[in-house]
Amino acid sequence: MFDLTGDVAVVTGGNGGLGLAFCRGLVKQGSRVAIWGRNADKNAVAVEELRAMGGDVTAFACDVTDEEQIATAFSGTLERFGKVDSCFANAGGGGFRGMSHMTERQTWLDTIDLNLMSVVQTWSPITQHLLERGAPGRLVVTSSVAGIVGMAGAAGYSTTKAAVLGLVRALAVELGQAGIRVNAILPGYIETEMSLDTPQAFKDGARRRAAIGRNGRLEDMEGIAAFLASRESDFMTGQAVILDGGHSIFP
Ligand code: NDP
Repeated sequence: MFDLTGDVAVVTGGNGGLGLAFCRGLVKQGSRVAIWGRNADKNAVAVEELRAMGGDVTAFACDVTDEEQIATAFSGTLERFGKVDSCFANAGGGGFRGMSHMTERQTWLDTIDLNLMSVVQTWSPITQHLLERGAPGRLVVTSSVAGIVGMAGAAGYSTTKAAVLGLVRALAVELGQAGIRVNAILPGYIETEMSLDTPQAFKDGARRRAAIGRNGRLEDMEGIAAFLASRESDFMTGQAVILDGGHSIFP
């Protein structure tokens, strides 16, 4: 099951946190991986770790808010691996920025650019490539439980993480007949670089609300990446997969 031998996956923000966990899950099942990451040092460390696991992995410098850098990373990926089968649009951030009515317009726009437009921009050339190849493809975005539950002080983040769910459903319908599946992963709270600015009260609340009594761990993210990239999820598209230990079902 979940044999990804011969496949090529792009993972944006694959040089740390959840993205690196997705890469680990993909490499364990035999996928080749192209990391599109901004920080060169983090790219190098992630590649070294994944290669030590036996992975055929390369990183490309890429700020996903910049279409030119996406085009360069994409052509580098095609040159190196010859194709792309799946793409995890995972890079994102901009969590707690304060009360909505106090938040500057530019901060809102930056969050939209990073968490929504970056996904559209990343998926566009890859969709074109998959359509030209007539290949089955899988597009996955890292949304968040924040997109389906209210979170004080993070309205821009919640809004954009909800918006990508609309994008997922629209593209699932647009691309389904071409064999391209589109799904979202909604993780609950997990300690990463991004979540360093998360208020302690929120972290404690998230743990209390999780039905299984703990917050998420990076290892919890590996299996879902392999599943969504694999043929075993071939009948699944337009879905929001919640991985939060039961946080979002709490009354
Ligand atoms: P990290 O800070 O560990 O990772 C964020 C990643 O995004 C980094 O690899 C970072 O790369 C990359 N990134 C940020 N901005 C850009 C950009 N403009 N261009 C390219 N890469 C960029 O945080 P997480 O792993 O937690 O976050 C990953 C995703 O998971 C995000 O979309 C986040 O919203 C989501 N998420 C996180 C949760 C959590 O609790 N941690 C819960 C639910 C969702 P670099 O360092 O090179 O800039």
